[in-house]
Formats: sequence, structure tokens, C-alpha cells
Amino acid sequence: MMGGPEAVDTAVRSHLFPPLGPIFPRTYEEGRALWEAALARVELPVARRDFPCPEEPGLATATALLGDPTAPGLLAVLGGTHGVEGFAGTTLQCDLLWRLACGQLRLPEGVAVLLVDALNPWGYRHFHRHDRQGVDLNRNFIDFANPPDNPDYPAIRALLACPPGPERRAALAEAAERLGRQRFEIAATGGQYQDPRGPFYGGRAPAHGRRVVEALLAELALGARRAVAVVDVHTGLGPWCHAEVVCDHPPESRGFALAARWFGPALGAPALGNSSSVPKWGLIDYAFHAALGESGCFVTLEFGTYGTEALLEVLWDDLPDPEGAPRPGSEALRRHFWPEDPVWREAMVLRGRQVLDQALAGVTP
Ligand SMILES: [Zn+2]
Repeated sequence: MMGGPEAVDTAVRSHLFPPLGPIFPRTYEEGRALWEAALARVELPVARRDFPCPEEPGLATATALLGDPTAPGLLAVLGGTHGVEGFAGTTLQCDLLWRLACGQLRLPEGVAVLLVDALNPWGYRHFHRHDRQGVDLNRNFIDFANPPDNPDYPAIRALLACPPGPERRAALAEAAERLGRQRFEIAATGGQYQDPRGPFYGGRAPAHGRRVVEALLAELALGARRAVAVVDVHTGLGPWCHAEVVCDHPPESRGFALAARWFGPALGAPALGNSSSVPKWGLIDYAFHAALGESGCFVTLEFGTYGTEALLEVLWDDLPDPEGAPRPGSEALRRHFWPEDPVWREAMVLRGRQVLDQALAGVTP
């Protein structure tokens, strides 16, 4: 591809869109600037609230509530729950803002939109999934007095912490064979609370992003609204160019029924075994499930990149420093979670639009 990342992004945008503004950040700082610029162009009432990140001066989670804050319908779009995956979250939020700004999309009567950008700003800034303490925010929503037990984790911990290569691949394949694929993936990725320097560590106290979510939930009165859809944008799990709407509501719940109605056959359910994801502990979902009650659903919009094997390889680069010092993430991490490929980016934006439009239709009175 000629001309570097900037030319690629320009080519994708000119192919996809009416002439909207830039939406593909290359750094955390650029992401924040693009988001602010797009927000400034929207002619709707906007209530802003930023949450400075205590892990590094200058970093923050930014939120904006567009439209009537008391509207009976609400669409919330979250990004950056997994730090480095925040590039995609910012892009879809910017795209939504530009579509609103240019009139391609109209906010339906009785619906407000909440944008939450960079829930884990430190991980976004430094290309990690986890925060500065090595905590995976999306395993952090547990009762710390009574942490879950992941009994198969210790057996594969040593394998996960080996440098990538043929031996590690073979050992992981052997473990997957021995435990069975789903049990292996739960052991590896379901979350663990005993090993602060290991992957998918849920922490021992609420992380910054959890405090942000709890502050927002205390104000939003989600359970009292008529219909609420929450879409949390992630990347890196699943096949290339594939977008899965992952639903972790219990299959018999109203939240699950709403998600099935609003998103149709794109819905994957880890509890039913038909998802790229497996059942997990401490998901951000659970805080929203409790707050939503019967009024809506929370889904994870997961954009596949290079597949699960590649994910387990690249996660070695994501392990926190053994001494607990901040450790820069790698280009390999950024590439896995934010591919520069123009076809992938175009597919992501198109599927993102479809899913957010389905969610908007679902919450429209
Ligand atoms: Zn993620």
C-alpha cells in the first residue's frame, strides 16, 4: 500500500462516506482530538463529563450525553474498556457524531445518546489491554470480598507466560486438547484473581473504569427508562472482518430476549456456546445488567482480527512487568487490536453503523 497509514485512512473514508471528518486515530491523543472535533460539530444539547485518570496526568475518560438527558430511550456506546481496543471505540463514536452532524442520521424523538470514550485511558495511551496496575477492567466487576476461583488457570499459567514460538504453541494446543476447547479458553481468558502479573487479571479493588461506570450508573437511572441499549466496542477476538454482537445476559432473561430481537442472528451467546467468546467472570456487563433491570440490554460488539491463536500469541506482549513497573505495549499489540488494513477498517465502520442503527431502532419509542 502506497503512502502510509494516513493515505490508507483517507482512501477508506473517501470510498465509504459522504465527506465526513477524520475518524481513524493512530494515538490516544489523536483519538481524543478527533472525538472532540466531531462532537463540536453536532447541533444537539450536549452534557459533558470527564473523569481524569489517576494513573497518569493528562489522561481521562470522556463522556458526552447528547439530546434530552431524561429521554425514555437511551443508546450508550462505550469504548476503550480494553485500553488499546479503544481506537475502534473512538472511530465508531466519531462516525456516529459525523453522521449526526451532517444530517445523514437523525436522533429519533425521545432518544438520547451517551458516548463513553477511553474507559481505560492508560491502556489506550500505552497500547495495552490492561491498566497501569495490570488489571483487566473487563474482569474487574466482582465482589472483592469473595473473588471467583478459576481452578484450571494455574495449570496453564506457565504456558501463557512463555515467549511465543513453536514450543509454546504446541504446549497450548496440548492443553486445549486435554481440557477441551471451551474449558481451556475459560481457564486462559475467563479471568483470574490470584496472579497480578498474569493475563486477564481482575484485580483486588475497583479500577478507574469501574468507578466511572458506577458514577454514570448512579446518575442515569437506566432501570426507569423505557428502553436502553448499551454497546461496548471491542476488537481482537474472532475471525478477520467479522463483527459479532456478544450477549452475556442469561439466555432466559428479558435482556437476552431484547438483544435477540434488536440484533437478530448476529447475536452470539457464550452461555449457549455459539460465540467467539466464552463465559467470563467480572464483566462490565454485569454492572449494567443489574442497573438495567427489565428495561434493556448490554451487548459487546466484537470485531475479529487475526483469530484466537494469534490473540494468545500477542497477549504475551501484554503481560504486565514482573516488577510492577509500567511497561510500554508493542506495535504487535496495536496491530492486532487496530489493524491498518483498509478492508478491515471499512468492514468495521459499516458493521458498526448497522449495529448502532439497530440499537437506535430498538430504543426508539
Ligand atoms: Zn476486549
